[in-house]
Amino acid sequence: MSELNAAPARLAVEIPDAGYHRRLISCQQACPVHTDARGYVRAIAAGRFEEAYLIARGPNPFASICGRICGAPCEAACRRGRNPRFDADGGHVGDDRPIAIRALKRFACEQAGPDVVPPTEVLTAVQRYVPSVAADAEEMAHLLRDAVAGRFVPARSERVAVIGAGPAGLSAAHDLALLGLAPVVYETEPVPAGMLALGVPDYRLPRDLIRREIEVMRALGVELHCGVTVGREVSFAELRRTHSAVLIAVGAKRPRGLGLPGEPGPGVHGGVDLLRAVALGEQFDLGDRVVVIGGGNVAYDVARTVVRQIAYDAARTAARLPGHRTIRLVSLETLEEMPADTVEIVEGDEEGIERLGGYGPVEIQRDPGGRVNGVLVRRCLRVYDADRRFAPVFDDQDRRVLDCDTVLIAAGQTTDLSFLADGGTDVTEFRPGWPQVDPATLSTTASGVFVAGDLAHGTRLLIDAVASGKKAARAIYAHITGRRLAPEMLEAHLDLGRYRREPGYEMIRRVEIRVLPPEERLKQPGAQVEIGYDAAEAVLEASRCLDCGVTPVFDGTRCILCGGCVDVCPTVCLKLASLDDLAPSPELASLVDRLLGPGADPGAHSAILKDEDRCIRCALCAMRCPADAITMERVQFTTQWRSS
Ligand SMILES: Cc1cc2nc3c(=O)[nH]c(=O)nc-3n(C[C@H](O)[C@H](O)[C@H](O)COP(=O)(O)OP(=O)(O)OC[C@H]3O[C@@H](n4cnc5c(N)ncnc54)[C@H](O)[C@@H]3O)c2cc1C
Repeated sequence: MSELNAAPARLAVEIPDAGYHRRLISCQQACPVHTDARGYVRAIAAGRFEEAYLIARGPNPFASICGRICGAPCEAACRRGRNPRFDADGGHVGDDRPIAIRALKRFACEQAGPDVVPPTEVLTAVQRYVPSVAADAEEMAHLLRDAVAGRFVPARSERVAVIGAGPAGLSAAHDLALLGLAPVVYETEPVPAGMLALGVPDYRLPRDLIRREIEVMRALGVELHCGVTVGREVSFAELRRTHSAVLIAVGAKRPRGLGLPGEPGPGVHGGVDLLRAVALGEQFDLGDRVVVIGGGNVAYDVARTVVRQIAYDAARTAARLPGHRTIRLVSLETLEEMPADTVEIVEGDEEGIERLGGYGPVEIQRDPGGRVNGVLVRRCLRVYDADRRFAPVFDDQDRRVLDCDTVLIAAGQTTDLSFLADGGTDVTEFRPGWPQVDPATLSTTASGVFVAGDLAHGTRLLIDAVASGKKAARAIYAHITGRRLAPEMLEAHLDLGRYRREPGYEMIRRVEIRVLPPEERLKQPGAQVEIGYDAAEAVLEASRCLDCGVTPVFDGTRCILCGGCVDVCPTVCLKLASLDDLAPSPELASLVDRLLGPGADPGAHSAILKDEDRCIRCALCAMRCPADAITMERVQFTTQWRSS
């Protein structure tokens, strides 16, 4: 059969099911705690800054810190980042960039969060908050109100031991306090916040902000004891005896070595050990020629911290490193493959870090006195195999020595569960240092012992640790009270009436986030590199949001099939098609039966098809429709926890 005579292919379509519109809100779906990012971005666009903060804070006790440093899976999922851009003639001129969701969250928190408001006022505001358009309130407001109304079993006498005051442990403690239990957090370090305080450098995250965020948790009743090492000042066995449950949230803070010849000994350190020492103001001897091994964000935190230490020690005004001092970052990956964020690489380059991509270390070389004098590296031809498994291949003919006197290794971290020896031998480890965990409840094999954060899922992002801490809190509540705490998804569909968008919103380019010029950054080690948005910039950036929760709803009983909506659509995302032209599927058959009745002739009926990826929710279709058959609707969802 010639192609001309071939029957045209039928269009495969997806019939919206119950969760369809919810799934389209990709930013909220991608967030491990399901923050309504779309909600706060649109609130900023409308100038409702406090509401924006309260939406962001609802499910996330670390909202302000996330505004500074979150790895932002929401941005990676943002549909605007996938949206094709067209010129006036409809030609494809490249793809757009995602909404700067993290920077907008920072802006919202700077308007109404603990950055500017005392802790108790933050709590009162969150408790008061009921979104104007939602069927129900945000998650934390619910918990607060329910706690105040005594709807949870009040169990203040039930103490829960939380080991580790990182984001996982503190998020768990925050929600345990809301649930009416008495969390007691034990932290080995002199300061709380885990890797946020002792890993993330202060030029990315101000220490005062950490303190303020944690003050809100204390105000909720979280008891926090710093400088208490479980396994030393208090045993695990004793915690189990004196508390109704124990949550282990000790993270993975021990630097992983590479096992290289010459590695053990002076002059070679774990990168996170340097970060911890700098954060605590402890002495850490750095030489003049430093090599950092690693290609991820942690390696950049290490290298950029070294830059600041050296520049500060040397001149206090240096824009670049003094000539005889070098900081080299060597990674297996080439520039294109490096796992570090582009912004880290660019800013690292600006600050004078020398990059050597595509090389892996072979040995650390030492002089006869045992002092480090070089790292022997060899070319890495490939890091991953075809299945994206780590399987580096090297070219041993291409070797070179990097002169140095200090080596900092940033190649991942591992755990230390030695405290389990006293009272925790029933906590089974699936491999040394990593407990076996029930993913649904985060419980271990030992009764009443739970885990959260990096220890539960391996090293990930701050927001993953928060999500995991919250999950553990709910499981602990169920364990202690015998009551189930079940999530209930609330979905609201709101008629938006005469919905209008900002003029030209689809053409606005991403507003660059202002940063400190490189020459200013090194004057003070803690100078904030990111300046962020002012109000005008934030409103402009927020107005780029495509508002994926909004959708045109077509009323088939009113539609006169004029095709006006199709004609007016600026992204050609609508199509009028005969039902006969659609590829058959059980879902389509059941919809047709439901709407037209069994036995109806599909050829006599039409459907409006919508390409969700192209639709920019401009509402022109609704405005154009002469029969008022199209209404704009917003779908919004939130999780509420019911105790039963
Ligand atoms: C250098 C660095 C930079 C990072 N930057 C980012 C970023 O920009 N964005 C992002 O999203 N994520 C980032 N992360 C990841 C993020 O910080 C972690 O995923 C998160 O901190 C893990 O939280 P956690 O609570 O599980 O563990 P941790 O934060 O490690 O907290 C565990 C706590 O337990 C304490 N502890 C350990 N043993 C004991 C004991 N025996 N007794 C008492 N206390 C104990 C520790 O001292 C620590 O305070 C970064 C990580 C590192 C290392």
